[in-house]
Amino acid sequence: MAPDIDKPQQPEMQVNAQRAKVLSENLAHILQRISSTNTSKRPVRLIAVSKLKPANDILALHQPPNSHLYFGENYAQELQSKAEILPKDIRWCFIGALQTNKCKGLARDVGNLWCVSSVDSEKKANELDKGRKMAREREQGLGRLRVHVQVNTSGEEEKSGVEPADAASLCKHIRDACENLELAGLMTIGAIARSKATTAETENEDFVTLTKVRDQVCKELGLQQDEVELSMGMSDDFESAIRCGSDEVRVGSSIFGERPAKQDAKIKDDVEEQKG
Ligand SMILES: *Cc1c(COP(=O)(O)O)cnc(C)c1O
Repeated sequence: MAPDIDKPQQPEMQVNAQRAKVLSENLAHILQRISSTNTSKRPVRLIAVSKLKPANDILALHQPPNSHLYFGENYAQELQSKAEILPKDIRWCFIGALQTNKCKGLARDVGNLWCVSSVDSEKKANELDKGRKMAREREQGLGRLRVHVQVNTSGEEEKSGVEPADAASLCKHIRDACENLELAGLMTIGAIARSKATTAETENEDFVTLTKVRDQVCKELGLQQDEVELSMGMSDDFESAIRCGSDEVRVGSSIFGERPAKQDAKIKDDVEEQKG
């Protein structure tokens, strides 16, 4: 009845064959590095971090033969705009600093939001829970929304995340009070300096810290280690993260190339913050 909704993005959604080839090769290379680093039996998921990159870059990797499913975004508005025009079987991962007032709308409006990795307060968890509840009332069969509790393992002021000592109580809140959320595990970003200092002999301290936080969470909540996954590792440090036990790495620039400045991005968030 309203076919226009599916049409207007046609020109923009052309996938350039040359660009698609570069992206496919980059993705294959990262997948190869992941599998050669991972000597364990657990699978390691790759989130392709597409923030500030155009929707047709995502489409290029989501289409066969790559058929990649997991894409990560940092800005709520950008994720929502892309989710509207891209295939519904994409599994969107919100990995950026999350504002409390964006939580409910994001979880309500994006049915294929697959995980939110940056939960660091009960308030945000509660708002996500409310939004997912509304989405589930709208969409039969929609499951709970997976979330990671973000932990500030590096103690840097500007980083989001709960203090390591506070992680277990937020995890407990999510499990006890948010029936539309599923506690999937823990996430950390880690300090750039530590990832630069990482060698084959000395792993990134932040990743070691996150594994210890998991031990604590498991102990306090009576969970098994394999019930609490770890999301850690980016372009510069994902191999170290995997050696430390990461279940999920989030890789952007090594797949999509350097990012444009936020204000130059094609599909971008409503302008806010970034002052002072
Ligand atoms: C941007 C971002 C990434 C990806 O970073 P790259 O260095 O481009 O791989 C991963 N995790 C988070 C939380 C990010 O904001």
